[in-house]
Amino acid sequence: MKLNIKNKFTTQLPADSNLENSRRQVAEACFSYVTPKSTSNPELLHVSPEMLSSIGLTKSDAESETFLKIMTGNEVLEHTNPYAMCYAGHQFGNWAGQLGDGRAINLFEVEHDQKSWVVQLKGAGETPYSRSADGLAVLRSSIREYLCSEAMHHLGVPTTRALSLALTGDQVLRDVLYNGNPDYEKGAIVSRVSPSFLRFGSYEIFAARQDHKNLKILVDFTINEHFSHLGKPSKETYLQFFAEVSRRTLQMIIHWQRIGFVHGVMNTDNMSILGLTIDYGPYGWLEGFDFGWTPNTTDNQHKRYRYGNQPNIGLWNLYQLANALYPLIEDAKAMETILETYATDFETESLKMMRSKLGLQSEVDSDTSLIQDLEDLLQLTETDMTIFFRDLGAFKKGHASEGLTLIKDAFYNPIEVTGSLNEKWNTWLMRYSERLEMETVSDVERKDQMNSVNPKYVLRNYMAQLAIDDADKGDYHLIDELFQLLKQPYDEQPEHEKWFAKRPEWARHKVGCSMLSCSS
Ligand code: AMP
Ligand code: MG
Repeated sequence: MKLNIKNKFTTQLPADSNLENSRRQVAEACFSYVTPKSTSNPELLHVSPEMLSSIGLTKSDAESETFLKIMTGNEVLEHTNPYAMCYAGHQFGNWAGQLGDGRAINLFEVEHDQKSWVVQLKGAGETPYSRSADGLAVLRSSIREYLCSEAMHHLGVPTTRALSLALTGDQVLRDVLYNGNPDYEKGAIVSRVSPSFLRFGSYEIFAARQDHKNLKILVDFTINEHFSHLGKPSKETYLQFFAEVSRRTLQMIIHWQRIGFVHGVMNTDNMSILGLTIDYGPYGWLEGFDFGWTPNTTDNQHKRYRYGNQPNIGLWNLYQLANALYPLIEDAKAMETILETYATDFETESLKMMRSKLGLQSEVDSDTSLIQDLEDLLQLTETDMTIFFRDLGAFKKGHASEGLTLIKDAFYNPIEVTGSLNEKWNTWLMRYSERLEMETVSDVERKDQMNSVNPKYVLRNYMAQLAIDDADKGDYHLIDELFQLLKQPYDEQPEHEKWFAKRPEWARHKVGCSMLSCSS
């Protein structure tokens, strides 16, 4: 196994001088060296061929004993020194102090095709940041992270990637429902890959400790390594850096809104500085379109991280990052302008995204109300977001009366779409048809454009759960089937039509399908 190893993070940034793997506060350091825990009977369940070749490995490398050992904690590649990153964060709106990689261990950095990647194990055992937990991950959440990060990439959403999914052969104790009934589950490790795993919280920790020296070292490193197009670090560059992180965060969230992805735990320790979707925990996909929905049971009461609130939370998190970067920039007004720009850009970008979902290429003032009224209608009766937008692609101008038949499969309770609701839909479809008359594209062209932004297949919550249930019984076929399906989420794939279906009723209230806890 030949990899072009680079260790820029560990050679350029301050290390924790304490080499003991004990839980503690770690000051003046970006990371602590730590060795992954060895596993008793590791078994690879899946490998992403695309990520393999991205880091410069072949299929036969992945079949080697060395690959298995390295990706499951039983061997450390020579000339590499695994480490856990130190960061803090705001969790559910409150300052949480030091958090850090409690169950993630970075193995190495590799350069290939002029791209730089960090390979990290999630679930490889305790680190100085494990606090009261065990540093391990279970199979169900590992399958969810593995499948979803690759699916998101193919949906065109900026994300960290996944390289491999493995069983450890060890058992892990979890209290899934937090009701005092813990049970053993299969332990697993996902190796994930990203140009960087730095988070907003990586900067917040130094600012909170008033360690401006190391804050500057880390920001300069980030700019030199990941934002070098901005030029040499200076106050002006720091400001541009903040503006770019703000734009990338916005773009990422607009993508989430487009496909109906709800992250579930948008704490600042889960916000990538590169604007990538990171840390797939209790995330979920909208089935019925509902701005108020969150998959995270821990957030059930306040629903802080509900679908409709993600853009606001992105901004709230950027305020925390602004506070952290302030000591280096010292220009509150300029930073506020960037934050205000996020808010106004969100309005315009969101409108643009919704126009694309409706196949509208020109811009008409009344689009705002057309979209607003649609969003209201979609919430009047449970309506599947993915099916609705995909089926709407087949709409024909001047044929509004056929519209309801086109979208009927999206309704969970078609019987409700009678009387006044039926009328409301027909009125909206008529307005939509009239609006389409202002467009010059043909019905066929519009359908193609809509199908390129409205996915046919997403990783519905019950789909992941089916793969998990099978895997618990030792059958891993569905993991591969979903992995292959989600590589072409915008294609028709008639052989996979069964996955273009509303959530089955059995999944409505099932744990893992409609709700998830953080206990993964
Ligand atoms: P999350 O909400 O999953 O991003 O986790 C928040 C913090 O808790 C991070 O610092 C994680 O590393 C840590 N954490 C979560 N689960 C575990 C675990 N099983 N063992 C150790 N640390 C964990
Ligand atoms: Mg996290």
